Amino acid sequence: MHTVSSVKEMQVLVQKIRAQDKRIALVPTMGFLHPGHLSLMREGRRRGGVLVASIFVNPTQFGAGEDFEAYPRDMERDQKVAHAAGVDVIFAPPAAEMYPSGYQTYVTVERVTQGLCGISRPDHFKGVTTVVCKLFNIVTPHVAIFGEKDFQQLVAIRQMVADLNLPIEIVGMPIYREEDGLAMSSRNKYLTPPERRAALCISTSLKRAKALFDSGEREGKKISREVKNSIEAEPMSRIDYIKICNASDLKDIDQITQRAVLAVAVNIGKARLIDNIILDPSVESAG
Ligand code: AMP
Repeated sequence: MHTVSSVKEMQVLVQKIRAQDKRIALVPTMGFLHPGHLSLMREGRRRGGVLVASIFVNPTQFGAGEDFEAYPRDMERDQKVAHAAGVDVIFAPPAAEMYPSGYQTYVTVERVTQGLCGISRPDHFKGVTTVVCKLFNIVTPHVAIFGEKDFQQLVAIRQMVADLNLPIEIVGMPIYREEDGLAMSSRNKYLTPPERRAALCISTSLKRAKALFDSGEREGKKISREVKNSIEAEPMSRIDYIKICNASDLKDIDQITQRAVLAVAVNIGKARLIDNIILDPSVESAG
């Protein structure tokens, strides 16, 4: 495995790979790798060809006053972990390589980025779709793998790929959780032990919502209220949003008659945590 930090070098490398008729899979990340990232890499590995993982803490997706500087970084450890996961190439450019002075072009996906996280983080998705589009142009993957943990991001990227006719298959992978249910995230590092315990209210509330849904409840408001009460019972939590939307286009819904996503964002201590669960009336509940 080797690490490439220059755009030019990456472009020369992918030209060579493509000349050998090999497929390229890309897993974009901001590093500080955890088992959630590794599940994406395993899927990339399973699909064969050359597996590229990008590690880039993208400044344009952080708003003023957000945690860009504080975001956890550990390149040395990431290189070992990625190598063990079967990554062939790490693309880890410095910010000036991706955004040289004079940079002024952005990719904006409109409607699906406006609700949910788009309300409290108005420029976030513009930064995400811009950097992902740039990564797609540089790495030219056949397939790119993303987590459903960032559900709105995945919907926005699918929309961008469709709208801009990018010849890339987008694969979404299920949320990888800690044993007790907390969705894995690099930002979990911000949590003190009491906050870590408090954060469990998020996944617990989603499990309750799922149980309610599985028992036949289809009214979004009732399910959201259950989630709200359950999270608010934890004094350290500050809810940003609780929302039930159509899972494919993120349009608001009242009655759950089609595959829906229940998405939440909750602040605990310094961490803003997001999580979600799929509520799909066409799937029989296991219980
Ligand atoms: P990040 O480094 O947080 O930007 O995440 C990089 C990719 O990993 C994104 O596609 C995320 O959705 C995905 N990801 C992050 N956490 C998880 C998780 N717990 N389970 C599955 N995918 C995840």
